[in-house]
Amino acid sequence: MSGRCPKMPESARPAAAGGDVAERLAGRIAREGPISVADYMAEANAHYYATRDPFGRAGDFVTAPEISQMFGELIGIWLADLWIRAGRPSGLRYVELGPGRGTLAQDALRAMRGAGLEPPLELVETSPVLRRAQSERLPPARWHDDLSTVPDRGPLLIVANEFFDALPVHQYGDGRELRVHLEGGRFVRENGSPVTEASPASVAIVRDLSRRLVAQSGAALIVDYGHDRTGVGDTLQAVAGHAFADPWEAPGSRDLTAHVDFAALAAAARSEGVRICGPTTQGDWLEAMGIQIRAASLAKAAPERTAEIAAARHRLIAPSQMGRLFKAMALVAPSWPEPVGF
Ligand code: SAH
Repeated sequence: MSGRCPKMPESARPAAAGGDVAERLAGRIAREGPISVADYMAEANAHYYATRDPFGRAGDFVTAPEISQMFGELIGIWLADLWIRAGRPSGLRYVELGPGRGTLAQDALRAMRGAGLEPPLELVETSPVLRRAQSERLPPARWHDDLSTVPDRGPLLIVANEFFDALPVHQYGDGRELRVHLEGGRFVRENGSPVTEASPASVAIVRDLSRRLVAQSGAALIVDYGHDRTGVGDTLQAVAGHAFADPWEAPGSRDLTAHVDFAALAAAARSEGVRICGPTTQGDWLEAMGIQIRAASLAKAAPERTAEIAAARHRLIAPSQMGRLFKAMALVAPSWPEPVGF
């Protein structure tokens, strides 16, 4: 498996057609002219996530919580530790952005319960298919289309894993925005160099999260693949059936992602007065959180699974796997203690 492949494709599988999305986008370009990469990505991903559960072997890609329970458990421990050292405030809520199948929340909640913490769940998820999957795995929760309806009182424990990479990016080159045209029935992005990217949608959400943390207290953990310095380059990619695919073909039938610009997110958070820890690599963060010890205790409880647990740990932390490309960054309310792991 290639370390360049953040969504961890495993084997080639032909992508399904994106049908109506392609037609809708083509119609829009025909009527209004070329559109931004961000508009293309937003429309394609909205359809993609609304119509399937993309995770796992039968799907398109695998995420860290789907690789091992250790990932969500260590996040739960991280949150519970902060809560305890903050003096166990009451009235707090667990907020997750893009919870996927709900696996991370399930593992994190189990670990938090062990520490005496059972917060109500506020899940920000737009996909009806994934809301259903989450409701099957999790205790009663409230679902939100965005953060605006999440209660504005009480401390927040916020988690976002592989959420920001799915949010739309604009691309620029030669001093202008690069737009998407239709040429002979195919989607084509304008050329320009060097290509740079910006995700105002991601920046707006991080600002919002940061404002909430300053006003309500609490902490957020953001884990995603990306770079810790604002870089140059076209990072838009499509993954379908565990293989890289052409992002300009069959929109809505494959997962479109871009590298998360952690420097841009940190700058947005800083301007709101929240404390920023990291970004550090996922591998270093999980090691600092004690993945070694957790793996050993899981293997002790189920010796027949020792090799599987070791393989999962390797996949999460090895630099050639998810360990280096993926980063963890925390946003912490100024009144809350220093988090561990950074
Ligand atoms: N965190 C999960 C899933 C990551 S995939 C995991 O690690 O397995 C991205 C998730 O974000 C999906 O649940 C998807 O439906 C959701 N999502 C994508 N764009 C969104 C948006 N604009 N608003 C809310 N949720 C979104």
